[in-house]
Amino acid sequence: MITLGVLGAGQLGRMLALAGIPLGMRFRFYDPLADPPASAVGEHTRASWDDHAALLAWADSVDVITYESETVPLTVVRGLMDRRPVRPGSDALRIGGDRLLEKEFLSGLGIPVAPFASVENLDELASALKRLGTPSILKTRGGGYDGRGQVSIADPANSAAAWDALGAVPATLERRVEFQRELAIVAVRGLNRRIITYPLTETRHESGILVSAVAPAPRMSEALQHSAASIAAHVLEALDHIGVLAIECFEVDGHLVVNEFAPRVHNSGHWTIEGAVTSQFENHVRAIAGLPLGSTDCLGHCGLVNLLGEIPALSQVLALPWAHLHVYGKASRPGRKVGHVTVLANDPHMLSERMQHVINLTRSNADSIQGSLS
Ligand code: AMP
Repeated sequence: MITLGVLGAGQLGRMLALAGIPLGMRFRFYDPLADPPASAVGEHTRASWDDHAALLAWADSVDVITYESETVPLTVVRGLMDRRPVRPGSDALRIGGDRLLEKEFLSGLGIPVAPFASVENLDELASALKRLGTPSILKTRGGGYDGRGQVSIADPANSAAAWDALGAVPATLERRVEFQRELAIVAVRGLNRRIITYPLTETRHESGILVSAVAPAPRMSEALQHSAASIAAHVLEALDHIGVLAIECFEVDGHLVVNEFAPRVHNSGHWTIEGAVTSQFENHVRAIAGLPLGSTDCLGHCGLVNLLGEIPALSQVLALPWAHLHVYGKASRPGRKVGHVTVLANDPHMLSERMQHVINLTRSNADSIQGSLS
């Protein structure tokens, strides 16, 4: 029996274990937090990221290591690489966890991204704003997720306020992209270097947080799917990545502009648990364990509604025969992802109606996403 070690024990780790346990795998998690979501599905070592003895003892108790979050310190991953295979490796984490390196890496591969500039101080922000123009977005290089670590700048006169609001930390300035919609692609690279992709997913964000997703993306041309798959293959190969990687894009006049990638399973792929032959979670654990990858084919039309802040009345969601409820076991907090609902349907119209129904039930986040599915 193979034991997978996961750095981080949030909901992504929990869903990795829920996919790997039926394949006969065991899971051990390492996370400084008390009682994290994944502690329900595997052994949890609670120790700090700088406790070397605890990290080494934990690494010795597993066969392969992966990470479920970009917040895992790079030094931790590097420090364990000569002890056990770490998949994906440290490059994906180093680049994927730093918005400037990420943009430089993507544009270096010839992949379209928003015009961007490195910003280390107020003077650099002023000259970057001159060069890129407004509206632009100032983003922290590290530590940003779910809309955190970014401030819009509509007028250069507000640059000092934006700089302060971000905390005067190293940042990137990005030109705001006028997109028609947001799309994401989840791809997997096996230990034998084979690459497979899931269908493009249309995603909706509010205040930088993913609120809902539809797969396969409506009105998707073969050319667009092909373009997304070839961008994903390019990134996976350049990083020599093993496992799942997700790429978030903007669609602009039928072309893709990449926003960022995540070197891990991703919220835009949660629908694959019920909506694809093999989920992104199962394919990630298969990849890092050196097993053959499974089919990424879609089982009909799928939707995802994130539960933000609090869980709605369980019985109402459970009564829906076409909905699947996932509760992460996290404390309620405004805007926090505490669960999701997958919706299945036979056609796009039925899917849209069912998603709207779920959105109406999930009252706390209904207001913010109401109308986003029209
Ligand atoms: P990020 O923090 O980079 O993950 O961005 C979160 C969300 O903010 C994205 O999904 C978009 O909705 C929006 N966003 C980020 N960067 C841009 C951009 N350059 N142009 C337009 N919207 C953006």
